[in-house]
Amino acid sequence: MNRRSLGFRLVVWFASVLTAVYLFVAAAMFLELGRYLKTNFGDALRRRADEVGEILATAGAPIDEAAISNEIRSRLLPESNNRFVRVSRSDGTVVYRSGPPVDRSFDPDAVAATDAAKSAQSKSVRQFLTPGGTSMLVVARSVTATSGSYDIEVGASLEQIQLVLNYVLILLIVAVPVLVGVSTSGGYFLIKRALKSVDHIAKTAEQISHHNLSERLPVAKTGDELERLSISVNRMIGRLDEAIQTTRRFLADASHELRTPLTVIKGELEEVAGSKNLSEELRERTGSVLEEVERLTHIVEGLLAVARLDAGEAQREWLRFDLAELVATTADQMKLLAEDQRITLVCNTGSRVDVEGDHVRLKQVIVNLLDNAIKYTPEGGSIHLSVRAQDRAVLEIVDTGIGIPKDELAHVFERFFRVDKARSRNVEGTGLGLAIVKSICTAHGAEIETESTIGRGSCFRIKFPLAATVDSR
Ligand code: ADP
Repeated sequence: MNRRSLGFRLVVWFASVLTAVYLFVAAAMFLELGRYLKTNFGDALRRRADEVGEILATAGAPIDEAAISNEIRSRLLPESNNRFVRVSRSDGTVVYRSGPPVDRSFDPDAVAATDAAKSAQSKSVRQFLTPGGTSMLVVARSVTATSGSYDIEVGASLEQIQLVLNYVLILLIVAVPVLVGVSTSGGYFLIKRALKSVDHIAKTAEQISHHNLSERLPVAKTGDELERLSISVNRMIGRLDEAIQTTRRFLADASHELRTPLTVIKGELEEVAGSKNLSEELRERTGSVLEEVERLTHIVEGLLAVARLDAGEAQREWLRFDLAELVATTADQMKLLAEDQRITLVCNTGSRVDVEGDHVRLKQVIVNLLDNAIKYTPEGGSIHLSVRAQDRAVLEIVDTGIGIPKDELAHVFERFFRVDKARSRNVEGTGLGLAIVKSICTAHGAEIETESTIGRGSCFRIKFPLAATVDSR
């Protein structure tokens, strides 16, 4: 688990706050329950004390201690109710004292006299521990009857209340962690769900590149930070799109404008080179300038092609055609060029493989790849072309040429990238051939893969969508 992630931190915060709240509620509940039970218990004891007071008040003077004892015993049943009852005169002599309770929860002899009973207060409650270790609650009150003043003490062991409180405490000790666990898991799933939309935005943003800058992120109308984030990112993509379009237009316009003067220079130079009264040295110089102009023209043509492809021009002439046939005829046209270099060109195309796209542009792909294969394959080598239909139309051009170093393989489709020129037999080239191939493939929804081994050869494999499955445009 990533401890620095937003999700993790939120869950930790959530769990900490919940634990604090649950602990506070549990402690308050426990204390309040204890207080309530003791107050209730005290009230019940007070009522019993009042009853004893009534018995004393209604007894004549002088009192018959045996009759009073019997009356208290029969009305309050202190032993079987596990109560302690003691009636004493103001001089301390005991008139009546209950016996040991049935549950043996306390020893009546061990219950000390309640001071409050002797004080001016008429009623008092006292909680204490007997020498036997029993926690007791004793209510004391003083009454004045015709036969004199008496102190009445009614009490009971707090054992039952203690048992209930212990039980509730165990319940809370178990319940709090369970509640925290359940709530945190719930919170974790809710947070994960909420962050899913952020993930979705990130994934969609990841898929947007300079090829599909017209696409936008989905904007959920939630009126929150996520909506604002999607809108801001969309605006940023819009600005990027505009900037890239401007650059593309500039590239297309510049290369287009350069074509005419280059053609004029080339024509003029050819005329100069053809002039009879030109010295040998000047003819040589003009020839080399012409070569450079030729190279420059190639670069400008390449740039124009790339700029037009970026502008989506390849999609104008969208037709359905047989790729196998296109490969076979193109290979046939380039066979002579290969034979000039003593390279065997083998074309392996079987039945029809229909694709949809720009026929002229796709021919350019085959020409560029074949041209490279011929350029970078030494004499006596061979080139194999094949087209087959699998889940997609697969075009493969395999040569036995010089190969491409592994770390350069990823860059060969970049504009103006050329692997170390010194290694190639024929250094003609602009570094734009494969960039054009890549742009055309992207425009056709095709994928291009390369495999190469230095000194053994290269394989360029393009996978086009089959005509039946291609998107209708
Ligand atoms: P260039 O005009 O230099 O051929 P490309 O874009 O067509 O430009 O190719 C880029 C680089 O990839 C070339 O400079 C070349 O070194 C390398 N390359 C392309 N195709 C092959 C191949 N079939 N065999 C070996 N190297 C190749």
